[in-house]
Amino acid sequence: MESKNIQNKLEVKYGLPSEVLFCKICNITNQRPNSTNEFQHNPESKKSTINFNKNGICIACEHKEKQHEFIDWDVRDKELKDLCDRFRKKDGSYDCIVPGSGGKDSVYAAWKIKYEYGMNPLTVTWAPHLYTDVGWKNFNAWLHVGGFDNYLFTPNGKTHRLLTRLAVINLLHPFQPFIMGQKTFVKKMCDKFNIPLAFYGEMPGEYGNKTLKPGASERTFSDAGTGFESISIDPMQLYFGGVSGEELVNNHELTKNDLLAYTPLDSQIEKDKNIEVHYLGYYVKWDPQECYYFSVDKIGFEANPVRTEGTYSKYNSLDDKIDGYFYYTSWIKFGMGRAMQDSAQEIRNKKITTDEGKALIKKFDGEFPHRYYKEFLNYISMTDKEFREKCDKFRSPHIWKKLDGEWKLRHNVNKTGTDD
Ligand SMILES: [Zn+2]
Repeated sequence: MESKNIQNKLEVKYGLPSEVLFCKICNITNQRPNSTNEFQHNPESKKSTINFNKNGICIACEHKEKQHEFIDWDVRDKELKDLCDRFRKKDGSYDCIVPGSGGKDSVYAAWKIKYEYGMNPLTVTWAPHLYTDVGWKNFNAWLHVGGFDNYLFTPNGKTHRLLTRLAVINLLHPFQPFIMGQKTFVKKMCDKFNIPLAFYGEMPGEYGNKTLKPGASERTFSDAGTGFESISIDPMQLYFGGVSGEELVNNHELTKNDLLAYTPLDSQIEKDKNIEVHYLGYYVKWDPQECYYFSVDKIGFEANPVRTEGTYSKYNSLDDKIDGYFYYTSWIKFGMGRAMQDSAQEIRNKKITTDEGKALIKKFDGEFPHRYYKEFLNYISMTDKEFREKCDKFRSPHIWKKLDGEWKLRHNVNKTGTDD
């Protein structure tokens, strides 16, 4: 009771839940934010976080359990065939878009759609900030060995670096401009090429949190309510890296045009062209580990030759040198490290147990990603000292405590935090 009182008095940043809990099944922390509308994201924004039920189980586990128990994959297969038939082009031209960077999930999605469902996909790629060697190799194998046409879009590096730097300064979120570009890019490509169907891979983990609009389907992207619809497409009305478009143009030497790569497609065009973006994960069973084996088998996909820092896995999210800092900053803001995220997924897919997950979290969560640190700092034009100070500024007192000059979690899933 005493510790609860102390916990209640600590400052809580970003509107996170003041009591720190961990899912009884997958170990994920209740501090995990849901995906938000990044165009309204500024330093004052409050976050909504993953829901836990009264038994202490997160919505992602609940959703996965339902999938394991109730989904008839044969019915879903039929639904996917019907969907493909509805869009299939008779003349052999492109009939759908599959976005991806050449990671295991995009290999799996594009292969399934082309070779098992007989579609003719155009694959499209919003380039990573800095391709890793293994990422670039896999990207090429995806196209050359897998046999797919691809459009690789690389945003203006000067603008992208500036926005990434601002996103670190204002939000400690080095991936925010990338996410904005990548999310809005797909529908814009649908529009440009007049291909009204696109497939994403797995449904997002917080999926069950979304309230569906009446008559909406749970299988499509826009219906799942990402907040990307019905907002302005005028960059001057939006935020990038936590800074308003207006300020970027007035004080950062950007033009309105520089920001257009990040803004959403006009919803009227989307409506007029009947653009549909579906989650392939709704129709076919999605298991990241199986996607990896599948990609190795089909295109000779390569895992990282060394373990990815901060986690135990070698095949998740390895194409961008900046990946590690996305996970590291989540660790700082939410006490949620990369091993926690990787193991939660594997527990839900019944690859490892809850206790194995706890052991992996203990061993790897929060490990600093040294490998590409110099390149990362160079990319965001910051010194080591500046970045570390930024990180400390973003630590919420209800999550972190400084003990003998070292930052420690107050609570962790292994119950060894300073306040556990
Ligand atoms: Zn869970």
